[in-house]
Amino acid sequence: MYADVILPLPFSDLYTYAIPKALQQEIGIGYRVIVPFGSRKHYTAIVLKIHQEAPANLDIKEIHSLIDAHPVVNEQQLKLWEWISFYYLTPLGDVYKAALPSSLIPRDLLNTYTPKTETFIQINPETGIENVESLLGKAKKQQALLEEIRHFLIENDEERISKKELSGLSGFSVSALNGLLKKKILVDIRVETSRLDNDSVSVRAPYPLSVHQQEAFQDINNCFRHKPTCLLHGVTSGGKTEIYIHLIAQFLAEGKQALYLLPEIALTTQLTKRLQAVFGSRLGVYHSRINHNERAEIWQKMLSPQPYKIVVGVRSSLFLPFQKLGLVIVDEEHEGSYKQQDPSPRYHARDTAVMLAHFFGAKTVLGSATPSIESYYNVLTGKYGLVTLTERFNGATMPAIRIENTRELRRRKKMKSLLSPLLIELIDQSLKENEQVILFRNRRGYAPIIACNQCEWTPKCTRCDVSLTYHKKINRLVCHYCNSTYRVPEKCPSCHQESLEPMGQGTEQLEEEVSRLFPDSTVARMDQDSTRGKDSYEQIIQDFQQQKIQILVGTQMLSKGLDFDHVKVVGIISADSLLNYPDFRAHERGFQLITQAAGRAGRKQTPGTVVIQSADPGNPIYSFVTGYDYAGFVHSQLEERKLFHYPPFYRLIRIICKHKDADKVEKITFRFAELLRKSLHERVLGPNKPVVGRIQLFYIREILLKLESGLSTQHIRDILKKTEVNLRSDSDFKHAMIYYDVDPL
Ligand SMILES: [Zn+2]
Ligand SMILES: [Zn+2]
Repeated sequence: MYADVILPLPFSDLYTYAIPKALQQEIGIGYRVIVPFGSRKHYTAIVLKIHQEAPANLDIKEIHSLIDAHPVVNEQQLKLWEWISFYYLTPLGDVYKAALPSSLIPRDLLNTYTPKTETFIQINPETGIENVESLLGKAKKQQALLEEIRHFLIENDEERISKKELSGLSGFSVSALNGLLKKKILVDIRVETSRLDNDSVSVRAPYPLSVHQQEAFQDINNCFRHKPTCLLHGVTSGGKTEIYIHLIAQFLAEGKQALYLLPEIALTTQLTKRLQAVFGSRLGVYHSRINHNERAEIWQKMLSPQPYKIVVGVRSSLFLPFQKLGLVIVDEEHEGSYKQQDPSPRYHARDTAVMLAHFFGAKTVLGSATPSIESYYNVLTGKYGLVTLTERFNGATMPAIRIENTRELRRRKKMKSLLSPLLIELIDQSLKENEQVILFRNRRGYAPIIACNQCEWTPKCTRCDVSLTYHKKINRLVCHYCNSTYRVPEKCPSCHQESLEPMGQGTEQLEEEVSRLFPDSTVARMDQDSTRGKDSYEQIIQDFQQQKIQILVGTQMLSKGLDFDHVKVVGIISADSLLNYPDFRAHERGFQLITQAAGRAGRKQTPGTVVIQSADPGNPIYSFVTGYDYAGFVHSQLEERKLFHYPPFYRLIRIICKHKDADKVEKITFRFAELLRKSLHERVLGPNKPVVGRIQLFYIREILLKLESGLSTQHIRDILKKTEVNLRSDSDFKHAMIYYDVDPL
């Protein structure tokens, strides 16, 4: 018998091993095995197929050993892995590595996951009570300790006492314990305990739904009768979470499991508390900030007869071994962070979640106040159902959105700071009413660029093709691509004059300015720089919720699905910078970001105001935003995308090539594009130099494929594979990094 296995290496090929006689009865699909590979190495592999066909290769190796007594990966998961590998043109070994917690993939024979154990002390049942007295003799301390242990066990109705509890007893001493152990009156045993918190929290029933929520809940259920996937388009603060809670409760009552996906780890804290109040210990949380061993335990628990019924997590929780998955919720489905960028597999968790649900025959809800064009298009073509929730919860009104023309204000010399006079006035007013303010700026740091006002020289990263950003707090220049930092030069290195000036404004400068304008209020900043510490993000959120902070300045990090009760004013500084960059998704992202940011304003009974500062208020995106006209926005975007052959009408595949040698990367991509054009013709664009042409010493070139939606993935795969093999046969191109980004964002 033979087994085809997946190795945790960047290959798509399966490797065949002979199954030793002794293991033939025990082995199965989804089991982990240790296999030899190369001359000396061993790897933990997953069995994908078992068969009788002897491979042509004669010196076939045997499986070294079997790790598990039951499969650790189930059939639906393996289907999902194969789909990801196929669709995203990514090695199956990479999917395996991304899916399993690393401590379940031991790198060698010894270094395997160790369960956490605790030592307990027990009265030795083999030493009869009649013998104890003579064994004790005149050891008074031992007598006293034994008496206390007996007392403890009776009182707590336990058979054993943990070493920790034992050391808390008044008669405890190490010598007395050792004496009793030596005389075999007591024995110690090691017991495997879980790292998981199993305290059963007292739970409450879900809150009753409002009339509008109840309608949406019903509509989703009706939708599920005809379609497995439903898009819930609900206004910000519409109370989507409570609808999800009712849906989860419904599926749990049917004996099913639910998966609740969020785009960011930072959002899990707020949500977990809400879900735990209703579902208690049936809820598990899974993401990369949880340590390796704990993740392995969650995995094992999902395989056990008592798995978590609900899992909240970010994209990696898609890979957990669900047994009876019935419902998948993808909240804030429009968020770009659902797409994994690096490393491979570069999958989109929203689209993969829909496939996962398909393999389980489960239902999916995609929720957003600003659905992605792709998902909305799937509604228009009838693939997904649509449910809308247009009313805010508790009858709260949508904030008024006002556009401030900063070009005009500058011309009239009315812009005396980064904030327009109207915004300053509104902030002032809400601070007097004890309400809060959020200000957005999508550039972190102090100044995006430093430049010489004489010769226009700007400092660049030596490892990447980008300008450096000035960070005032640390007084360094920082590369936002590789995080290298540099000293700020005193003189311009080019013309040797003291003529370097910061240009533009980042969040750091905005924070400084706001503190100057409102000296009596507490101002805090939330961006990648201020939230580096493990819990600093949660801390800022908490402080803001408890109104210890009055004005919060931040990047788009702030716009993502956070609920605050006292925000009256939201300001969007330099809104144009969200729209003006060369990408076909720029307008979609800008619309989503501004609408989401605006949605943070005005909750409960306080109506809010949003101020958008723009030097180009004529941009049509602003009228869609101020009019809350999502449908109008989508239709204008769809027209443009159809015209210029972009998704959702065409599929994009980005081919990325990296090399340390600038000439070689140029040659490879040129040759690659040339070969591809022979079969794909005008669908091949480039090669192009991306906006940032070098990152961390690697030169980058890209080729873009625009493929009409009818074209088969298998066909494209075959062409790309063949071409790559052809290309690699040239020894000059051997060391190039080539990879694919399917449906790039
Ligand atoms: Zn750099
Ligand atoms: Zn200069």
